[in-house]
Amino acid sequence: MFLDIHTHSMSSDANIKKVFNLDITATSLGEDLELFFGGNESVSVGIHPWSVSEEMFFEQIEILEFLAADSRVKAIGEIGLDKLKGPDLKLQEEVFLKQIRIAESVRKPIIVHCVKSFNELIAIKKLVQPKAPMIIHGFNRKSDLAIELAAKGFFLSFGIALIDSELSKNALKSIPLSQVFFETDDEKGLTIGEVYNVASVVLNIELEELKDKIYQNYLELYL
Ligand SMILES: [Zn+2]
Repeated sequence: MFLDIHTHSMSSDANIKKVFNLDITATSLGEDLELFFGGNESVSVGIHPWSVSEEMFFEQIEILEFLAADSRVKAIGEIGLDKLKGPDLKLQEEVFLKQIRIAESVRKPIIVHCVKSFNELIAIKKLVQPKAPMIIHGFNRKSDLAIELAAKGFFLSFGIALIDSELSKNALKSIPLSQVFFETDDEKGLTIGEVYNVASVVLNIELEELKDKIYQNYLELYL
């Protein structure tokens, strides 16, 4: 079984376990919970840093608290910090912290969106010391940073960048496979099979073995 830990593509495939991401904007829930889940049995739910707003976040947090315990919600995310887009970083940090606490209370992993804010992310993890595993999605940075993050207990998820970025390939090679995931995110036309195929070449490991190991990583997030 392939695992796509973070995708925005709704299409289902019997050979792929997908964790479909749902962003809580202030109006996204409405009255109809079933419409919100859209028939998906495995979703991550969170307030994306781009969707954080001063006026709305109390309401957004209430919605997340309500949804987080639902058995279809497998992770809280994508949540995090972005220095290039979204509101003031202080507000992003406040909302990120609130969501980490929700993940802790329901004992579910966290899918992290992090752009140019790795120092802040590391500081927050050190401060809060969440038991909830933190998976940094769309990782495409240097090996040094990958090694540092893995040593601090983060998981890293690799996507489109792995196809043609040496940076991403080297980062993948530099950390334990037990802390690796793969994803398609919102890349149209990218299949999770392509990502796994490249990873299997980069890591010099059989595709079937890679699939098993990554799926095992997923199961162990909940132990
Ligand atoms: Zn995404």
